[in-house]
Amino acid sequence: MAHAVKELWPDAKLAIGPAIEDGFYYDFDTSTALSAGKKDAFTDEDLVKIDQKMREIIAKNEPFIREEISRAEAIKLFQGIKEDYKVELLNALSDEKVSVYRTGKGFVDLCRGPHINSTGEIKAFKLLSVAGAYWHGIETNPMLQRIYGTCFETKKELEEYLKNIEEAKLRDHRKIGPALGLFDIYHEEAGAGLVFYHPKGAVLRTIIEDYEKREHVKRGYQMVITPHIMNSKLWKTSGHYDYYKENMHIFKVDEAEYVLKPMNCPGHILIYKSRTRSYKDLPIRLFELGTVYRHEKAGVLHGLLRVRGFTQDDAHIFCLPEQLREEIKGVIDFVFDTMKAFGFKEWVIELSTKPKDRIGSDEDWQKATSALEEALKEEGLQYDINIGDGAFYGPKIDIKLKDALKRQWQCATIQCDFALPKRFGLAYVDNEGKEKQPIMLHRVLLGSIERFIGALIEHYNADFPLWLAPVQMTVIPIKDSVVGYGDQVKGILENEGFRVEIDTRNETLDKKIRNAELDKIPYILVVGEREEKSRSVAVRKKGKGNIGMVVLSDFIKQARLLSNSLT
Ligand code: ZN
Repeated sequence: MAHAVKELWPDAKLAIGPAIEDGFYYDFDTSTALSAGKKDAFTDEDLVKIDQKMREIIAKNEPFIREEISRAEAIKLFQGIKEDYKVELLNALSDEKVSVYRTGKGFVDLCRGPHINSTGEIKAFKLLSVAGAYWHGIETNPMLQRIYGTCFETKKELEEYLKNIEEAKLRDHRKIGPALGLFDIYHEEAGAGLVFYHPKGAVLRTIIEDYEKREHVKRGYQMVITPHIMNSKLWKTSGHYDYYKENMHIFKVDEAEYVLKPMNCPGHILIYKSRTRSYKDLPIRLFELGTVYRHEKAGVLHGLLRVRGFTQDDAHIFCLPEQLREEIKGVIDFVFDTMKAFGFKEWVIELSTKPKDRIGSDEDWQKATSALEEALKEEGLQYDINIGDGAFYGPKIDIKLKDALKRQWQCATIQCDFALPKRFGLAYVDNEGKEKQPIMLHRVLLGSIERFIGALIEHYNADFPLWLAPVQMTVIPIKDSVVGYGDQVKGILENEGFRVEIDTRNETLDKKIRNAELDKIPYILVVGEREEKSRSVAVRKKGKGNIGMVVLSDFIKQARLLSNSLT
């Protein structure tokens, strides 16, 4: 694509163009390139032209040739062709040698590779959109033009992907959520990226939280609750004050400096540290539905997926070195059981290893990484390795779930940490009475509950299974004289633990049924004189239509079976 753009507009400057999930993008500086009476921005017609040019280049089956040169040579090369952004990138690198790729007549780009061998290997691609993007994402930097595209090995896969994108637009949780009365984000009045759960959304969230609390207790976790604000001394000890400050809200309480909690770890550490721990006490698994606040740039905020305040299903496990592998396996099983309970069947697993800048000894890294890897192997799981992508304080496993439209959602993370136990001087007393440092695991299952609710809405298109539906059934009396019976039915069902509404508005039956369907309520229970006489309800089930008259007590039995989560 970059080659095609340069052929069409030789003055366009190349910024960066990585592969991303499901495709790629490239940022171009077009401020001096799109002359001849045109605006700076690429238009839809330009995308068509670029697409055609790409097809020409593919038809020529031009090879990509890799060259390794010194960084100094590369700087000279890109200065010579006025690719200022490449020069800036090169200046920021510390590598002695870098690689460039050449193709066609004189196209050259800075790239680590690897590349396909030649353009003819590209079988199915599509340019999707163009958007403005600041260089390095910083608002005071030049505005660049970002073209997004996607590419697959076969036309069939491309078509399926494009169909899923169209479907995804219809399922956008930012539209469905407020429309169904689940949540709102009042950017103007309350500030950006802050979520307000409306009654139905609060019910959905409570169901998720109750499920999590139950399951954690079953698996030997202890629930804790820690404060939302804590003295900055604590965040200095944890290192967040130095490494994470730009994301933190810091303010004064009396004369002391406080931080609005961006993470739950230090709070859990204080609880661990509150008493002497023996090796017999370990593992200790502390769990909190912990609400955190982080300063995210306005430009990256996105519905429930990127917000400034969110709640994590966060736990920290303090264990002996010899317990590490079993603990990791326990978390992996927990993740999968949870995903399955919520209706997700596919996932992608990534293991991120030792980065260049890190703390901790090579031996520690080796042990922790192999514990993570062995746990994955023993569970018989497939995973990708992201070399050098671990956190500076330890390696990690990420488990991304795939939704009904094959999109990936970051959810679970299992992370080994050597830094915090050391920084806080955590200890346990071993069987010889000596103080030793425990190993600490950070882990979330769903990650951010907000993001997970966004994923759930789009996965199900808000057609939630019965156990998750905020309103499970609505009673519709067909005339005023049976409203009393309708109320009775509602009361009986509520007593049985169901979430029930009744629609007594002065509207036609058809309109009420239509409304309940638009509200995605799983069961519509119509009641008239016939139903009242036989203590029954006329059942309409979402997706199945009219089921007919069912004796109320039988309906309760059926619904009770369906309303259990998988547990
Ligand atoms: Zn943590």
